[in-house]
Amino acid sequence: MNNSERNKNQGSGKGLGSGGGRGRNKGGGFGVGGFCVCANCGEKTPHQQGVKCTSLKCSKCGHTMVREELLNK
Ligand SMILES: [Zn+2]
Repeated sequence: MNNSERNKNQGSGKGLGSGGGRGRNKGGGFGVGGFCVCANCGEKTPHQQGVKCTSLKCSKCGHTMVREELLNK
């Protein structure tokens, strides 16, 4: 038997990785909704779509807001 032909075909590496780890709910970042929370005083404000929490300032103390999800981790 001659197996050398078969071995040629198998040598070209790079298989497709199996299973991409898409564990996020709803697929888009944190999804819509949720809250921005002041990391300093705890003030909450509803998150607006398209507006980053970190671009908001707390209405009470002026501190930068963060996603609620990030604080709870
Ligand atoms: Zn604050």
